[in-house]
Amino acid sequence: MEMICPLCNGLEQVGEICPGCGQKMTDGGALRNYAGPYAPYTEAVERNRCFCIHLLYCSYCHYDKRKAWTMIVK
Ligand SMILES: [Zn+2]
Ligand SMILES: [Zn+2]
Repeated sequence: MEMICPLCNGLEQVGEICPGCGQKMTDGGALRNYAGPYAPYTEAVERNRCFCIHLLYCSYCHYDKRKAWTMIVK
Protein backbone atom coordinates (compact mmCIF):
# COMPACT_ATOMS: atom_id res chain seq x y z
CA MET A 1 0.00 0.00 0.00
CA GLU A 2 1.40 3.31 -1.03
CA MET A 3 0.20 6.78 -0.17
CA ILE A 4 0.43 9.36 -2.89
CA CYS A 5 -0.48 13.00 -3.13
CA PRO A 6 -3.23 13.52 -5.72
CA LEU A 7 -1.92 16.95 -6.56
CA CYS A 8 1.71 15.86 -7.04
CA ASN A 9 0.48 13.05 -9.25
CA GLY A 10 -1.81 15.13 -11.40
CA LEU A 11 -5.01 13.46 -10.20
CA GLU A 12 -6.44 16.68 -8.82
CA GLN A 13 -6.35 20.31 -9.80
CA VAL A 14 -5.91 23.26 -7.51
CA GLY A 15 -9.38 24.63 -6.86
CA GLU A 16 -8.31 27.45 -4.60
CA ILE A 17 -9.42 30.96 -5.40
CA CYS A 18 -7.16 33.84 -4.47
CA PRO A 19 -8.73 35.84 -1.63
CA GLY A 20 -7.02 38.95 -2.89
CA CYS A 21 -8.19 39.13 -6.50
CA GLY A 22 -10.51 36.18 -7.08
CA GLN A 23 -8.34 34.48 -9.70
CA LYS A 24 -7.56 30.80 -9.63
CA MET A 25 -4.39 29.97 -7.75
CA THR A 26 -1.54 27.96 -9.21
CA ASP A 27 0.24 25.01 -7.64
CA GLY A 28 3.81 26.00 -6.81
CA GLY A 29 4.75 22.46 -5.90
CA ALA A 30 5.10 20.46 -2.72
CA LEU A 31 6.94 22.23 0.06
CA ARG A 32 9.18 19.25 0.63
CA ASN A 33 10.77 20.18 -2.68
CA TYR A 34 11.86 23.47 -1.13
CA ALA A 35 14.93 23.68 1.01
CA GLY A 36 14.82 25.97 3.99
CA PRO A 37 12.93 26.66 7.19
CA TYR A 38 9.78 24.79 6.24
CA ALA A 39 11.46 21.45 5.69
CA PRO A 40 11.41 20.13 9.29
CA TYR A 41 7.83 21.26 9.76
CA THR A 42 6.47 19.69 6.59
CA GLU A 43 8.32 16.46 7.19
CA ALA A 44 6.79 16.11 10.64
CA VAL A 45 3.32 16.84 9.34
CA GLU A 46 3.66 14.44 6.44
CA ARG A 47 4.89 11.62 8.63
CA ASN A 48 2.15 11.96 11.21
CA ARG A 49 -0.90 12.73 9.18
CA CYS A 50 -0.16 11.79 5.61
CA PHE A 51 -0.49 15.27 4.24
CA CYS A 52 1.39 16.81 1.38
CA ILE A 53 1.89 20.53 1.92
CA HIS A 54 1.75 22.58 -1.25
CA LEU A 55 2.62 26.14 -1.92
CA LEU A 56 -0.16 27.83 -3.88
CA TYR A 57 0.39 31.17 -5.49
CA CYS A 58 -1.53 33.72 -7.45
CA SER A 59 0.22 34.81 -10.59
CA TYR A 60 -1.93 37.96 -10.77
CA CYS A 61 -1.33 39.60 -7.39
CA HIS A 62 1.47 37.34 -6.06
CA TYR A 63 -0.42 36.27 -2.99
CA ASP A 64 0.71 32.88 -1.75
CA LYS A 65 -0.35 30.40 0.87
CA ARG A 66 0.31 26.86 1.99
CA LYS A 67 -2.29 24.16 1.91
CA ALA A 68 -2.19 20.55 3.05
CA TRP A 69 -3.49 17.95 0.62
CA THR A 70 -4.60 14.66 2.05
CA MET A 71 -2.67 11.73 0.66
CA ILE A 72 -4.66 8.95 -0.95
CA VAL A 73 -4.01 5.24 -1.31
CA LYS A 74 -2.69 4.45 -4.71
ZN1 LIG B 1 1.72 16.92 -3.20
ZN1 LIG C 1 -4.52 37.17 -6.50
